[in-house]
Order: sequence, then C-alpha cells, then structure tokens
Amino acid sequence: MKFIFSLLWLCCMTNAFTQVDAEDTPVSISALQTDARTLLITNVFIIDGTGTPGKMGSVRIAGDKIIGVGQLLPLPDEQILDGKGKVLAPGFIDSHSHHDRNLNDFPTALGAISQGITTIVIGQDGESDPIDSLKKWCITRPKSVNIATYTGHASLRIQVMGSDQLHRTATTTEILNMQKILRSEMTKGSFGLSTGLEYEEGFYASTDEVLQLAKTAAEYDGKYISHLRSEDIYLDEAIDEIITIGREAHIPVQVSHIKIALRDDWGTANQILAKLEAARAEGINITADVYPYEYWHSTIRVLFPNKDFTSLEAATFATTHLFDPAGSILVRYLPNPEYAGKTVSEIAVLRKETPEETLLYLVKAAENYGLEHPDETYIESIMGKSMSDADLIPFITWTHSNICSDGANGGHPRGYGAFTRVLAEYVREEKILLLETAINKMTALSADHVGIQGRGLIATGYYADLVLFDPDTVQDNANTDNAKAISDGIITVWVNGQIVFEHGGATNQFPGVFLSR
Ligand SMILES: [Zn+2]
Repeated sequence: MKFIFSLLWLCCMTNAFTQVDAEDTPVSISALQTDARTLLITNVFIIDGTGTPGKMGSVRIAGDKIIGVGQLLPLPDEQILDGKGKVLAPGFIDSHSHHDRNLNDFPTALGAISQGITTIVIGQDGESDPIDSLKKWCITRPKSVNIATYTGHASLRIQVMGSDQLHRTATTTEILNMQKILRSEMTKGSFGLSTGLEYEEGFYASTDEVLQLAKTAAEYDGKYISHLRSEDIYLDEAIDEIITIGREAHIPVQVSHIKIALRDDWGTANQILAKLEAARAEGINITADVYPYEYWHSTIRVLFPNKDFTSLEAATFATTHLFDPAGSILVRYLPNPEYAGKTVSEIAVLRKETPEETLLYLVKAAENYGLEHPDETYIESIMGKSMSDADLIPFITWTHSNICSDGANGGHPRGYGAFTRVLAEYVREEKILLLETAINKMTALSADHVGIQGRGLIATGYYADLVLFDPDTVQDNANTDNAKAISDGIITVWVNGQIVFEHGGATNQFPGVFLSR
C-alpha cells in the first residue's frame, strides 16, 4: 500500500502557488538598528499578554531583549519610535503552523509576520523534520520568524516501520525504537509529541502506541498536541482518547484546531467543552487551539472517516453530513489541474454527475495519479466547508483555548489572516472577546501551552518579539479568492528586536531563531 495522500501535502505548498509574493520590499530603518543603542517605543497602549487591562506607556528594547516597560524617559541619543497611541502587544505565537514549508524560497514568512506572528510552532499533525536538520536550516537559511517544533508521530513511524507498513499498529520493538528517537529529539529541544491520528500514517496506531510515546515526551516535560483521530463522526471517542493520554501519560495535552465537522453535531461545542472541563477538574491539563474559520484545508480523504473510499454510501454521507459540496473548493488537484479553484458541486456539473459520484471520482483519480507518480507527495487538497460559527465562538472564548492559524503560504486564507481575523471579527465587530483576552490567547497562553519560555509577554527580560497595530483598522483581507491578501492595521512587527514587517511589507531582515524547549 502506498501513501500517496501523505499528510505531507501540507509540506509541499511551495510549488503549489505561483502567485508572486510582494516580499522584496526595500530595507528600512530596521537596518539601522544594529548598533548598541537602545530603542524606545513611546506613546503606545501596552497590552502585555497577561490578559490584564492595557495601559499607555513606553517600551525600551536593547539588542534582542525588552529592558524596560512603563513611564520611561528617553535616554540621550536613544532611538525613539512614536507609537502614536496604537496597541503594542507581544508578537503572536502560532501554536499550529505550516508556514515553514516554503521558507527556503520565502524566508520572510510574509503570511505569518503580516498578521503579527513572530513564532511559528511546526512539526504538526504527526509530521516533523529532525531537530538537527532544523537547527542547521535556521543557521544556513535565516528566517524572519522564530521556529519551534514538536516531533511527529507519523514521522517516527515512517523512520522505524517504513512507509509501506503504516496500516497497522507498531510492535513492541518498534515502539521502543520510536521512543529511542523521540528521547534523542527531546534532548535536542523538541517541545513534545504531535500526532495526526485522522491521517492514514497515524490512524492505524493503537491508543497504547501513542500513549507509550506520550510517556516518553512526558519524561522530558514535553507536551502532546493532536490532530484528533476524528473531527466528525467519532469526535467524542477521539476526545476520550486524548483525555486518556493526558491522564495516563501525565502530560499536558492539546486538542489542535478544535472543531465539530459533523453537521448533525453543530451547536454542541459546549458539551465538548464540558467534557474537557471535567477532565481538567480531574487534574488533566487539557487545552485546545483554534482558528477562526468555518472551513478546513486538508486531503479529500478525510471526508471518508471509515476509510471506505469507494463506497457511494460513504460519499453520500460525506456530502450530506460532513461538508458542503457547494461551498468546498479544491485547492490543488494534479490529475486535473483545472479543477483547482472550483467547488465539488461545480466539478460535478462539469462531469455531469452527482456531487457524491464526483467525490468518489476525485479520490480514485488522485489515488491512481499517486501510483503513476510515486515521487509526488502533494496531489490534492480541499477546503472543506464544514463547521459552524455557533461552535467556533464557544471554542474561541474557552478559557483554555489559544489562537492558531494552521496556515501556510497560500491555499487557505488562514495562512495570512487567522490572527487579524480574530482581532477584527471577534474583538472589534462581534465583541465576544476583550482585546486583552484575545492578545493573551495569541501570546502568553500559547507560550504556556507549547512550553515556550521568555516570549509571549511584554516584560523586562523577555525577548523583543512585538507587534504594533491599530485595533480600529486591523482587518484580515485574505479570502478564498485571494488567500495571500495582506491584512490591514498591522503597523510594525519586531522579532528579537529587529523590525521584520512595516509599511505593509517585509523588511527582509532575518532575526528569527530556532527555539529549543
Ligand atoms: Zn491538522
């Protein structure tokens, strides 16, 4: 069995989108910031990341650190930046990101920095690169953002079991070998274990296999983050599974991009949250991250939760319960590239079929394409319209959820707009979150959930990862027609004390570092 539909589709965004990036903006004042002088950012409304009310003041930075916060007087010769009363917040920490995958070509990570993200947490959904190669990559190809990573369960499986052996649970010896690699990765700085149990590389693993690995991550105070085994028909069981892992491995566990992708269960977010709260009351440190959209971006194959990819009945269930074929757009489809950009319903009309027949065709033709093109790892993907705002709001407002993008450079608009969308939609327009709470969910709470130290707050001694923005005009502009539209209202972004984004573009400064646990 070959794994054409590897979750590795996530990592191959580079070639998928040929749109030219506006990443070559001229170098500006950040280039002047290399001397030993301090910078005083004055006249800013400081929202420090703790969730407490913001206040007017100044922030002083020297090198890559914050060295003063409050009512500060300028020093002789000090560089001054007048914040003009706008909000200064810690740089956003994206706890589930795929922005790394084309950083070789676009090391500015424009999609991330233009929405205020200064740290991306990668190695998600069970797929990761070895720490050694990531560290080397961060030195040989410097980037504008900081990078932290989990170690992926599927990547461990592939290394130990082989990519043609993933349709089974691992043997005891294989688990021991995976633990050995994981131990080494944890020692080198991995933040923990990630799984993508809905994807076929991870799906056939038993709970015990995952549990044994989670225990290993726990030995090093790591975390467990999971794209659950099901986000639709078996969501309840999948939540039970992650709670079990938290309970038995004594490890903090995070439900990543929490959602309810089964229409029949729309509106039941509070029941899910009650279950998570009950687990917390029992002493299990369970948290979640969430992105603010009603549609996901993944392989078409996730629409077949029972992996019965040729069943018309299953396809009909998918079109009636799991996604809206008229609102779900193919992002990439190599067997027939002109289908990209069209909805499943539109393709069905072209093919003179029902949407469910088309769904079966799309899966099958992609599978055949994979057999004929064994080196191609990213054959198809779809944005599946599948969630409801009625659930999104409780998930976003839950005390223990932080904001993530799950985004990349194109494809789904979340790659350019997730954080600014929360600030515009849920803070300013709908007023379901206080600005201070939203910032906390983008900074200190995320840092805490991932285990990142020294970032996520505006406080003396913290790294100078900062975002200056206008809360009255901040607005995501990316949408399904233009997934790379730059947000409004993000004025200046600093990473490790250097400006990486201003005047609506990247400065081509690359101060990002690799973060070790
Ligand atoms: Zn995922």
